[in-house]
Amino acid sequence: MSSATEYQHVRHDALLTFQWTVQENEGDRELTASGTCPVCGCAMTWRIGPTQTVIPKGGFLGRREDLGPEPWKTSCRCESYHQPRPANARGCGAWLTLAPPPAHLTGGS
Ligand SMILES: [Zn+2]
Ligand SMILES: [Zn+2]
Repeated sequence: MSSATEYQHVRHDALLTFQWTVQENEGDRELTASGTCPVCGCAMTWRIGPTQTVIPKGGFLGRREDLGPEPWKTSCRCESYHQPRPANARGCGAWLTLAPPPAHLTGGS
């Protein structure tokens, strides 16, 4: 049913609370946010690896330098194939606003 959602750029400005986890990987921290996309209803997982581009609030394709308390923006990353989706895109096209990870996960000491 959820895959019937059309691929569409939708801004979803309401703050979502996703589950954040952190993994230590050879000295690097990798954050993972998982939850349900409110637009298409699919489960999605967003991995923020140390070498990946992180998109900060209001920015575009810039590496986020500090894991601050501001909301995080990400596009939907679900695994379903929403039509008509561009070849290099993922998810349903929704642009989500996530509540930031808890401070103890981002190394605030
Ligand atoms: Zn979605
Ligand atoms: Zn989906």
